[in-house]
Amino acid sequence: MNMPVHAPLEKFQRLGDLLGIELYVQRDDLLAFPLAGNKVRKVRAELRTLSFTPELLITNGAINSNHCRTVALAAAELGISTHLVLHDSSKCDQTNSPALRLFRNIGARTTVVPPDCIASEISAIRERARDSGIRAHVIPGGGHSPAGALAYREAGLEVFRRLRPDVVFVASGTGATHGGLAAAATHLPSPPRVIGVSVARSADIGVAQVQQAAAWCGAASAAVDFDDRFRAGGYGMEDDATHEAVHLGWSNGLPLDSTYTGKAFAALIHYAQSKQLQNARVLFWHTGGLWNYLVADTQAGHR
Ligand SMILES: *Cc1c(COP(=O)(O)O)cnc(C)c1O
Repeated sequence: MNMPVHAPLEKFQRLGDLLGIELYVQRDDLLAFPLAGNKVRKVRAELRTLSFTPELLITNGAINSNHCRTVALAAAELGISTHLVLHDSSKCDQTNSPALRLFRNIGARTTVVPPDCIASEISAIRERARDSGIRAHVIPGGGHSPAGALAYREAGLEVFRRLRPDVVFVASGTGATHGGLAAAATHLPSPPRVIGVSVARSADIGVAQVQQAAAWCGAASAAVDFDDRFRAGGYGMEDDATHEAVHLGWSNGLPLDSTYTGKAFAALIHYAQSKQLQNARVLFWHTGGLWNYLVADTQAGHR
């Protein structure tokens, strides 16, 4: 893909003043893509590094996966078909799900399976494609691949060199985004502290994933600063700190969601209030999540 992957870097003066910090936001939620987020950089990088043009992309994720949506739409633009292996633990009405409606409009095939059948389903789809002479490529779930991490190393280098932040906050899920940014930091004369705020995993599993992603970027010994205290119990769960962060963000012009960016911002608020960010230039790396915000609202009523 030849489209530029750029997003604004903005100073949030008023919100920064409220928190007593110098606050900048890297707006990857404003990458030129519908309901944008970090998956845009990761998926585009993944597609760029393919040595052949596939006819079919196979990947997996939850029904509301930002990764799956981005893969399906980016592939559609290139005339590549997609088969998404989806799982869902909630008992939502699947025929009315906005996510499934979007996949139908894109023309992506979807198969919904229980989480423990994902790997076997992907193998079966791949084998059927091979038998029919279709060139297929499997993208790891969540875009947790070297290409995605490298895309974030590249983006991190550009933004860190421009802004020279002291501390960076980013929501950390599979760890590819965090690992790429942590790798970028190692190239700076005075490296920023890159704090990955876990949205799901506890540190005992999460740190190794981030380290692996940093290693993909040639920075196996990068410092991994992984904070798992703001997960609110796990993926898709939320607590008062999440809600307060989401509200503080929106009420100062910064859109946040409770699955990803609200947790990262809850951490930022905590560090600011406990005076750990004094005189620091703070960069909040916004990873998207507007879809998650909209869907959470319709599922759980207005908060
Ligand atoms: C996927 C996602 C993340 C987590 O990114 P990883 O690279 O998997 O750690 C963070 N924020 C949003 C909005 C996402 O969709």
